[in-house]
Amino acid sequence: MGKPTGFIEISRELPKDREAKTRIADWKEFHEHMPEEKLQAQGARCMDCGIPFCHTGTLISGMASGCPINNLIPEWNDLVYRGLWREALDRLLKTNNFPEFTGRVCPAPCEGSCVLGISEPPVTIKNIECAIIDKGFEEGWITPEPPAKRTGKKVAVVGSGPAGLAAAAQLNKAGHLVTVFERADRIGGLLMYGIPNMKLDKAIVQRRVDLMAAEGITFVTKTEVGKDYPAQNLLKEFDAVVLAGGATQPRDLPIEGRQLKGVHFAMEFLHGNTYNVLEGQKNAPAITAAGKDVVVIGGGDTGTDCVGTSMRHGCKSLVQLEIMPQPPMTRAGSNPWPEWPKVYKMDYGQEEAAAVFGADPRRYLVTAKKFEADDQGSLKAVHIVGIEWQKDAQGRMAPREIPGTEKVLPAQLVLLAMGFLGPEETVLKGLQVDRDERTNAKAEHGKFATNIPGVYAAGDMRRGQSLIVWAINEGRGAARAVDLYLMGASDLPN
Ligand SMILES: Cc1cc2nc3c(=O)[nH]c(=O)nc-3n(C[C@H](O)[C@H](O)[C@H](O)COP(=O)(O)OP(=O)(O)OC[C@H]3O[C@@H](n4cnc5c(N)ncnc54)[C@H](O)[C@@H]3O)c2cc1C
Ligand code: SF4
Repeated sequence: MGKPTGFIEISRELPKDREAKTRIADWKEFHEHMPEEKLQAQGARCMDCGIPFCHTGTLISGMASGCPINNLIPEWNDLVYRGLWREALDRLLKTNNFPEFTGRVCPAPCEGSCVLGISEPPVTIKNIECAIIDKGFEEGWITPEPPAKRTGKKVAVVGSGPAGLAAAAQLNKAGHLVTVFERADRIGGLLMYGIPNMKLDKAIVQRRVDLMAAEGITFVTKTEVGKDYPAQNLLKEFDAVVLAGGATQPRDLPIEGRQLKGVHFAMEFLHGNTYNVLEGQKNAPAITAAGKDVVVIGGGDTGTDCVGTSMRHGCKSLVQLEIMPQPPMTRAGSNPWPEWPKVYKMDYGQEEAAAVFGADPRRYLVTAKKFEADDQGSLKAVHIVGIEWQKDAQGRMAPREIPGTEKVLPAQLVLLAMGFLGPEETVLKGLQVDRDERTNAKAEHGKFATNIPGVYAAGDMRRGQSLIVWAINEGRGAARAVDLYLMGASDLPN
C-alpha cells in the first residue's frame, strides 16, 4: 500500500473534460490528460483493502461488480503512487490486452465496488488505467512481441471487435496462426464503427491493430463469413474457430410511420458518420442531423453517442426519450454497495446538449406512439405519450400509457437506439451452431464451446449486447479453451 493516510488527505480528482461548446466543433477526444504528480496522488488514495472488491468481477443483480477481467488494481495503484510506471504497465498487461480501450470507455464497475466508495468518492481507477497504458505507448515500452515458437495450428476468428481481438491476441501468444475475418472495411468492430471518435480516437484502435499485425496475426477485411466466404470452409481450412460476430440485430419500433424517410437505426447513423470522419469528411455523412430537429429514442450508451454526434453535426434541437424513470441522485436502498450504482448522471452527449440548448435533453417515462409525415412523405413529427410501469396479468412490470399526456415533437430525424436483440444468424446457421433462448450462440461461460467440435463463441455473440470489458474477458477465456482443445494443455490464463 502506497500511502496509508492517502485516502484521508487526498480528494478524488479527475482531469476536466474539454469545454462542451468548444469540443462539439470537432471529433477529437473530449477527455483531457492529468499531470503525473496528480495521478500519483490519486493512486495514493487506494487503501489496498484486505478484500479488494474492485477486482472481483462478479455478477450481482445481473450487473458487474468489480472488474470483469480481474485487473490487479491495488497493485498498479501502489506502483503508480511510487512512480514505478513500467512495473505498473507489466501488472496491467497481465490481465488486460487493451487497457487503452477500457481506460477510455469502460463504465468502470470497479469504481462502483471500490471500498473507499462506501463513505467517500471512489479511487479514479479507470483514469489511472488509461494513464498507465498511454505512458507505455509514449515511452516506447509497447513493441510487437511475436511468439518465440509456432505450433503449426491454424485458428479462424470471425469478427474483429474486442472479443475477437482479445481471442486473436491470446491465441497468437500461444503460438497458433490466427486469421481474423471482418466484414467491414476496417478492423475493430464497435471499437471502430460503434463508439464515436470523440470517445475513442480511431487512431488508437488502428495502433493496436497494427501492433497485432506486426505480431503475426492476419486480418482479412470486407469478407463476411457465410456470404463472401462459405462458413463450412472454416472447418476445412482451420483447426479451430472462434465466433465473435457481436449482437448486431437492432430492436425496432414498429409503430405507424416507421417506414418514413428520416427514421433510422442508430447504428446506420453512427457507422456512416465514423466512416465519413475517417475518410476526411469530403462529403456530408450518409445521414446528417445538420439543421434538423432530432429525436433520439433510447437512453443508453448508443443513445448518448447519437446525441453527441448530432450535436457535432449542428442539429437545430434535440430530445432524447427514455421509457424508464429518472434514476435517483444517490444509491437507492435496493441498490447497495458493491452493486453497480444506478444513479442519475449526465454523460458527455447530454452535457453538450445542455450547454447549447440549456437543459438535459432526456425526457423520462415517455414512449413514441407514431411518426407523422409531411406532404413529401418525409418525417415531420413524433407523437409521444407518458407511461407508468404496472404489473401485467403475469405479474411482470409493463409500461401503460397515461391518457391525456400525448404531445407532438417536431422531428426531421429520429434515431432508434433501443438496444440489440442478438446476433445475426448467417454464420451460426452456416455452421449449424445451436442458439440459446435469447438467440445467442449457445456456449457456457468459462467453456465457450458450442455444439460443433472445435467451434467456440465469445463476446456479444454469446452473451448478448454487453460491455467491452466483458468482450475481452470472453475473448481471453475462449482463447484458453481453444488452446486446451488444440494442445491438451494451456499456459494461457483463465
Ligand atoms: C453505439 C455503441 C456504443 C457503445 N459504447 C460502449 C462503451 O462506451 N463502453 C462499453 O464498454 N461498451 C460499449 N458498447 C458495447 C460494446 O461496444 C460491445 O459490448 C462490444 O464491442 C462487443 O464486442 P464483440 O467483439 O463481442 O462484438 P462487436 O464489437 O460487435 O464486433 C463484432 C464484429 O463482427 C463482425 N461480423 C459479424 N458477423 C460477421 C461475419 N459473418 N463475418 C465477418 N465479420 C462479422 C461485425 O462486423 C463486427 O465488426 C457500445 C455499443 C454500441 C452499439
Ligand atoms: S477494465 Fe473497466 S472495470 Fe476493469 S479496471 Fe478498467 S475501468 Fe475498471
